[in-house]
Amino acid sequence: MCNHALRALLFATLYVCGAELGHLLSFPEYFATFWPPSGIFLVALLRTPNRQWPAVVLLALICNLVSDVGLHNCTATLSVGFWSVNAAEAITGAWLLRRLFSSSINCDSLREVLAVLLVAGVLNTMVGATLGALLITQAFAGETYSSVWHMWWVSDLLGVVVFAPVALTLTAPSKRWHSEYSTNRTREGVFALLCLATTSQLVYGPGQHPLAFLVFPILIWIALRFDIRMICIANVGRCIVGIWNTEQGTGPFATAGTVADQVLQLQVFLCLTSGSFLVLAVVVMERHRAARVLQESEARYRDLLENIDDLVHSVNSEGNILYTNRAWRETLGYSQDDLQSLSIFTVIHPGDHVKYRQKLQRLMKGENLGQNELRFITSAGRTLVVEGSSSCRFVDGQPTATRSIFRDITDRREHESQLDTYRQRLEDANRQLKLLATTDALTGLQNRRAFQERLVEEVERAQRYGHPVSLLLLDVDHFKQFNDSFGHLVGDEVLKQVSRILEATARTSDYLARFGGEEFAIILPNTDSRGAMILAERFREAIAAEPFPDRRITVSLGVATLSRESHGLTDIIDGLTLIKGADEALYFSKHNGRNQVHLAGELHHAMA
Ligand code: GH3
Ligand code: MG
Ligand code: MG
Repeated sequence: MCNHALRALLFATLYVCGAELGHLLSFPEYFATFWPPSGIFLVALLRTPNRQWPAVVLLALICNLVSDVGLHNCTATLSVGFWSVNAAEAITGAWLLRRLFSSSINCDSLREVLAVLLVAGVLNTMVGATLGALLITQAFAGETYSSVWHMWWVSDLLGVVVFAPVALTLTAPSKRWHSEYSTNRTREGVFALLCLATTSQLVYGPGQHPLAFLVFPILIWIALRFDIRMICIANVGRCIVGIWNTEQGTGPFATAGTVADQVLQLQVFLCLTSGSFLVLAVVVMERHRAARVLQESEARYRDLLENIDDLVHSVNSEGNILYTNRAWRETLGYSQDDLQSLSIFTVIHPGDHVKYRQKLQRLMKGENLGQNELRFITSAGRTLVVEGSSSCRFVDGQPTATRSIFRDITDRREHESQLDTYRQRLEDANRQLKLLATTDALTGLQNRRAFQERLVEEVERAQRYGHPVSLLLLDVDHFKQFNDSFGHLVGDEVLKQVSRILEATARTSDYLARFGGEEFAIILPNTDSRGAMILAERFREAIAAEPFPDRRITVSLGVATLSRESHGLTDIIDGLTLIKGADEALYFSKHNGRNQVHLAGELHHAMA
């Protein structure tokens, strides 16, 4: 409520003061040179919701009566007539602008400024002129319709062009203006306005120099350095100075023929320059705004790139570095200045140059290379392993630069290689452990445990494929006696030598093991009893023929074979029965006089 009353008071004050200014700046014997209330009335309607327009229009009536009847001895009837014309003009102007713009008008875009100047100014004031001229020619004898129409139109036009923008910009929400000015800029603004006022006074004051254009540099200065609000204020000021002085008979327009000619020339000059500088100011403002939006967007992207931990760089086709982000420079130890003369090949590990050159060529052809790995060298000489992807930027179909984003994976690689070493060591230890667990320490042959596992496998395989498998058990004859005669250590040497002879005699497919004490076992895969007997005999002979240093050494052997042909299907056959058979045959060889070979009754396949 209070707000409404304040706004009504403000409108009324501005309206009456505007009318007084219009009267004050009127030429003798001439109606108003310019009519500020036309701009003020229009803006009051634009700033008010449609349903409150009647109140504004009514208030304008009171203001008209106060000004015309109260202050200028005009009749109430004529004052109401003036009000009707002003109201018709303001309402059509505001209505037209409302139709053109759904949101509020603040003169902060070229479209809005042009609409105010051309639609509410040039076009709409013709409505006022048409009605006003009718009123004047009815009320005053001797006035011609066309000259009054003309006079009314240009006065109202100047009123709208000068006062509507100032009222619109000064009542616009402050957030529409991008920045408030610093103290220095405010001082500069005040100084510019003072310069304009002084120059205007010099131009329009005493003396008849045709120097109206002297104000142009100052108006350009204001339009380029400040927003449209300053041009609006400048326009109001220089209009007042210009009209006042011309009316006093000084300045470049005071010499132009009749009063009507002087007024018209002045009005046209003020209208055109005010409108033009409003347009210039708003164009400059829009460009500043666009540049600011661009700057902000660039700053946002730069901030994003500068603050990520990944290494980002961009290079041209020659490998010259065009851009790097903070993480890149910090990780590789280069400053922004170093980059001026830095080639990407200084940064890439020499071993990766060929690979990188090929990649660069493929990227420039527009290929997508996916993830790749490279090595970088820091300025301190440390090698970094990086992983990432690159792509190429094309402008008008031409490759211009590649952009890459990499991640330092040196630590990860180091951990991986350390892990590899540990795994290797563990595998070696396991192999060693397995060797120890399956090898006989004295002879280096497989031990009994390994032998038993192998025997189970060979028996299974033989049964699966229907192959024969034979087992030899070999025992050194009278070895206790040998030990007793030559000592245990010499006995050990004999066992080792026996092992070497057995190894030398065996085929690669045969499996040799120390069965225990001075006993050995030999698995003969895929060998029937005949072949096994031949091999057993060969072992026996090889040992018997060996010239042992201390005494002749002989061995006795027992042979057992598992085969499908020679036996029935009833016995359950496994490794144990095979051992048992060979053991029985060995026992027989011992009791039969030693240094001989005997075959157990052949066993048969369980599966056959
Ligand atoms: P036979 O001809 O009946 O096999 O007589 P033998 O003396 O060889 O058999 P016996 O089983 O009575 O004795 C085996 C001997 O083998 C007893 C032991 O001193 C010897 N012996 C067992 N293992 C080793 C060994 O690792 N080193 C040495 N030097 N002797 C061993
Ligand atoms: Mg024995
Ligand atoms: Mg023995």
